[in-house]
Amino acid sequence: MGIKRIDHLGIAVKDLEASLKKWQELFAAKVGAIEEIRERGVKVAPLEFEDGSVVELVAPLGEDSPLEKFINERGEGIHHLSLEVDGIEEVMERLKNKGIRFIQEEPQKGAEGSKIAFVHPRNLGGVLLELKEKQK
Ligand code: ZN
Repeated sequence: MGIKRIDHLGIAVKDLEASLKKWQELFAAKVGAIEEIRERGVKVAPLEFEDGSVVELVAPLGEDSPLEKFINERGEGIHHLSLEVDGIEEVMERLKNKGIRFIQEEPQKGAEGSKIAFVHPRNLGGVLLELKEKQK
C-alpha cells in the first residue's frame, strides 16, 4: 500500500488528434486508445515510450470543461504529474490527515478503469498532482 512510482506526465492540449500526430512523428511514441471521460470533461490519449514511460495528452471535451478554463487561463503545456498508488482511499486519508486538500473529496473515474484523485496545487507549490490506482 502506498506510493509506487511516477505513472505519467499529463500535458494539456487543445487539439488531441493534431498533438498526437506531432508527438508520434517526432518521438515515435506508441499511441494508446483515445478515451473520452465525460464525468471530467476530458479526452485523454496515452503515448508510450520504449521503456514503458508514458506521456498523457489531455484535451477538453466541450466548452464547460475545467480543462478548457485551464488552457484559456494558462495556455497549453504541462498540466499534471501522476503517481501510481495502491489503496487510493487510504493514501488520500493519510494525506488529508497531514492537512493536504484534494480537488474532490472522493476518487474519480480515470482512464482505463482507474481511480484518480487530484491534490490541490496550492498544497504543492503549484503542481497539480494526480494519484492513480490502476484497475485490478
Ligand atoms: Zn493523468
